[in-house]
Amino acid sequence: MGTEQFRDDDQGYLSWVASHAHGYVINIQRSLNPADARTHHASCHTINGQPPRGRTWTGPYVKICSTSLSDLGKWALERTGSPIRRCGTCQPPGPATIAHPTGGKGRHRKPRRS
Ligand SMILES: [Zn+2]
Repeated sequence: MGTEQFRDDDQGYLSWVASHAHGYVINIQRSLNPADARTHHASCHTINGQPPRGRTWTGPYVKICSTSLSDLGKWALERTGSPIRRCGTCQPPGPATIAHPTGGKGRHRKPRRS
């Protein structure tokens, strides 16, 4: 498995996400500063299509791609020393966010008395 990095390679990046729609992408500063990095589903609309403001996808921010979320997690710890936050838009799953299946979260409303 492993990961692929794309920098100054929009073509390569866009074809990766096109052919790995179920993969995952870390969007991170070129300096690999994890402060504002995010993990996305490859299909997340915020990292697909036209780059914002006509910029490049793989310039100041680069893309780390993998079909394995755990490989991306390992990459992040090794390369940045920090886990990467998950995108709030596409909400990829992650070991840190797997909640215990509680099942009964929704409370029943009190029945109205007449
Ligand atoms: Zn996203």
